Amino acid sequence: MVVVGGGYGGVTAARYLKLADPRLEVVLIHRDREYLSCPGSNEVIAGMQPAVRLVRRYEQLTRRYGVRTLCGEATGLDADRRIVTLGDRSSLPFDRAILSPGVAFRWSAWEGYGEEASRRCPHAWQAGAQTELLRKQLRSLRPGGTVMIVAPPNPYRCPPGPYERAGLMAFYLKRHNPRAKVLILDTKTQFSKQALFLHGWNELYPGMVEWIPASSEGEVERIDADRRIVYSEFGEHRADVLNVIPPQKAGSIAEVAGLTDKSGWCPVDPRSFASTLAPDIHIIGDACIAAPMPKSAFAANSHAKVCAHAVAALLAGRDPGPPSLINHCYSFLAPEYAISITGVYEYSPGEGGLVAAATGETPMDADRKTEARQARAWQKNFQADVFG
Ligand SMILES: Cc1cc2nc3c(=O)[nH]c(=O)nc-3n(C[C@H](O)[C@H](O)[C@H](O)COP(=O)(O)OP(=O)(O)OC[C@H]3O[C@@H](n4cnc5c(N)ncnc54)[C@H](O)[C@@H]3O)c2cc1C
Repeated sequence: MVVVGGGYGGVTAARYLKLADPRLEVVLIHRDREYLSCPGSNEVIAGMQPAVRLVRRYEQLTRRYGVRTLCGEATGLDADRRIVTLGDRSSLPFDRAILSPGVAFRWSAWEGYGEEASRRCPHAWQAGAQTELLRKQLRSLRPGGTVMIVAPPNPYRCPPGPYERAGLMAFYLKRHNPRAKVLILDTKTQFSKQALFLHGWNELYPGMVEWIPASSEGEVERIDADRRIVYSEFGEHRADVLNVIPPQKAGSIAEVAGLTDKSGWCPVDPRSFASTLAPDIHIIGDACIAAPMPKSAFAANSHAKVCAHAVAALLAGRDPGPPSLINHCYSFLAPEYAISITGVYEYSPGEGGLVAAATGETPMDADRKTEARQARAWQKNFQADVFG
């Protein structure tokens, strides 16, 4: 078995494949020596925790679970010949492969905003240097200045993420730059946990956070990264710090291997996460189409468990049976204030895909301090479940 991508989906899949059948030979291909977690990165930007807390390592996977890890880039995948090619031109054969490559950015979607512009106006939607750049820019914001977050269209990685970021930036600014403002220029007319976020911003940071929906500003048309101006259909917005989160698609290896459809994402059968375009290749995490599940680390972990179980069953000639998946997303608005949303998902033979069996948000009057404590406990337990 070959697993491509050493993030939340790929690592969980590799580990749970070994737990499902220790006799399986599992090779995990990961691009970087260490993985940097996006969950927790908004807290780094707001100075609530140091960047070093985002680092995850792969040693336990080998030592405790017998997964072979290989640091490199998968540059090609031939589904017919069942081989993965690596950047050094070596290749690895497989019986089945699991891909969890995360997302890539659609750099040409918004005129003026490409990879080069992101070095001045960071997206910080992949943890690391971009997180650090945005953290520094927030610190050097002029007194009374404006931070603007441009929020992307659906579907994208972490639907509540831009709004969590806005709240945590306001948390920082309230203490260090109280006349500053956070504007969210949205390409949507509604967003995840909207009522809870609006209520929380108003309670904690009255007048500091403003959400501008697409219904009042229309589409984003052009970005001037040098002058930090966003031109929309009906106006223009100038910022002192500009955080642009661009539209997204599946990680590039999925496209290179011909596993994406015209949406840019990977269609799968959610009973096993096998590609509907190449049945021996499974795609999990942000890259696959698993709506109505959101694209989150929790969801990627849930896909990975269903997928690992199904692959072990299929290799042994057994039917994997019906899947049941779960997602639970916490968002912080301050260190002692968190909100959450949850969903349970099942396979519907009639729909031929996943449906939500139950969903819910924490009530408006819930104890936010308790929820913040639970969010921290989740972060800790989740890391242990994925990285061992
Ligand atoms: C600011 C922010 C906050 C977030 N907070 C939360 C949260 O609180 N809770 C939550 O559940 N989710 C959260 N998320 C979402 C979460 O980060 C993603 O949904 C999750 O990382 C998806 O896992 P994945 O395995 O699909 O992709 P990733 O975690 O991105 O892993 C993909 C890995 O594959 C590697 N890779 C890609 N292509 C190749 C290749 N060709 N060869 C080798 N390696 C390759 C990449 O380098 C990467 O390491 C947040 C995201 C952001 C941006």
